[in-house]
Amino acid sequence: MLYQRSSVLFKAAQEVIPGGVNSPVRAFSAVGGTPIFAKSAKGAYVYDEDGNRFIDYINSWGPMLLGHAFPPVVDAVIEKTKQGTSFGMPTAIETEIAELAVSMVPNIDKIRFVNSGTEACMSAIRLARGFTKKDKIIKFSGCYHGHSDSFLIAAGSGAVTFGTPNSPGVTEGTAKDTLLANYNDIENVKSLVEANKGEIASIIVEPVAGNMGCIPPVDGFLEGLRAICDAHNILLIFDEVMTGFRLAKGGVQELKNVNADIVCFGKVVGGGLPVGAFAARNEIMNHLAPLGPVYQAGTLSGNPLAMAAGLAMLKAINADVDLMTRLEEKTKYLHEGIADALNKNNVIHTINRIGSMISVHFSQDTVIDFDTAAKGNNETFKKFFHGMLNRGIYIAPSAFETWFITDALSYKDLNETIAAVEEIAKDL
Ligand SMILES: *Cc1c(COP(=O)(O)O)cnc(C)c1O
Repeated sequence: MLYQRSSVLFKAAQEVIPGGVNSPVRAFSAVGGTPIFAKSAKGAYVYDEDGNRFIDYINSWGPMLLGHAFPPVVDAVIEKTKQGTSFGMPTAIETEIAELAVSMVPNIDKIRFVNSGTEACMSAIRLARGFTKKDKIIKFSGCYHGHSDSFLIAAGSGAVTFGTPNSPGVTEGTAKDTLLANYNDIENVKSLVEANKGEIASIIVEPVAGNMGCIPPVDGFLEGLRAICDAHNILLIFDEVMTGFRLAKGGVQELKNVNADIVCFGKVVGGGLPVGAFAARNEIMNHLAPLGPVYQAGTLSGNPLAMAAGLAMLKAINADVDLMTRLEEKTKYLHEGIADALNKNNVIHTINRIGSMISVHFSQDTVIDFDTAAKGNNETFKKFFHGMLNRGIYIAPSAFETWFITDALSYKDLNETIAAVEEIAKDL
C-alpha cells in the first residue's frame, strides 16, 4: 500500500500542529512510520487520503459502536444543524437524552453533559471532593481518566508513597493528592486506605480497564472496592468513558452488578461528536452548581448537534435487544481465529476479551495489571501492526490499546482479518 498523500499531509501538519496531531495517540511514535490521514469512513471501513481502504478496529477509539456514518446519527445531526448550532440556552433535546440515559444506566438519578471524557472525570473528582470534604484520590496504574492534572501520575514504588507527576506542568502539590494502586489488587487498595485514614475522597477506576490493553476485573475486585468505599465514606467512581453503553446498555454497573457512586461517560454517548457526561444519585448530583456549591460549567455543554448524535446513538442501542450478543459473538469469533493463527505459527501471545473489547498481547503471562501488560514484546507488536496495516487492517498504533469491535463488521471482514494474521504470524 502507498501512503504518499498521507506523508505529504503529515509534513505540512507538523509545521503548524505539534507533532502533526491534535492528540498524541494518533502519531505512530510507538510503531514508527507515518500516520494515515483519514478522508472518510462508512460502516466497518475507513478510507485514507491515498484511497486505501482499511477494516477499522479503532473506530474513533470507541464511539462508532454501530459503524461509521451510522445513518440515524448522520441524519439527526444534519436536521439539527439547520436549526442553529449553539444557543447557550437550555434545549429540549438535553432533557430527552438525559431521560434516556438515566433509564438505561442503573443507580443514577441525574446526569450532566460535558464536552469530553476528560472533562467528565475531572468534574467527577471535584464533585467527590466537594461532597466528602476530603482531598485525596486513589487511581490505578495503567488506568486512563483523561489528561487533567490529577490523573497524570505515574506508578511510584511502594504502596504508600505519594505519586509523582509524569508530565511536566503537573505540580507536586497536585500529585501528592493522587495515590496509586495496582489494578486487580484489592489488598493494595486496603493498605492505601489504612495508611490515609479519613483523607480519601474517592477511588476512580475503569471497571473494565481498556487503556493498557483490555483487562477485565478479577472476581471480587469491584465488589471489594465497593465494600472499602462503603466502610470508609469514600465515593466510588466508575470511569465508563470506554465501557458505558458498550459492554451493556447500563455499562459495567449492569454487567457486573456492582454500583458506583458516580459514573463517567464519553465516546459512545456522543455518537462520534465531542460529548462526555457524569451521573450519580440525587444526593450527590444536587451538590453541583446551580443547586449546590461545587462549580462546573461549559459554554458548549449539551450542544444541540452533540446531543442529537448522542440521542440517535443511545436510541439505536436501547432498541436493539440482540446488539450486545451479536457484538460478543463477533469478538469471540475474531479471538478464536487470531488465537488459532498465532498458535499454528508458535507465536507467544495472550488474548484478553470481554464483550466487544479485545486485546492481543505478545507475552505468555496472563495480563491482569499494568506490570503484566508492560511485559509484551513491542518489537513483535510493531511487526504485527505494520503487517496488518499493509493488508488493510487498521488497529491502534500501540500495544497498550484495546481493539473496538463494531456491529458493522461482517464475518467476511473478520475472516479477512484472521487471514491477514495467518500470513503475518509466519514472520513474527
Ligand atoms: C478516552 C477515555 C477518557 C478520556 O476521554 P476524552 O474524550 O479523550 O477526553 C477517559 N477515561 C477513559 C476510560 C477513556 O477511555
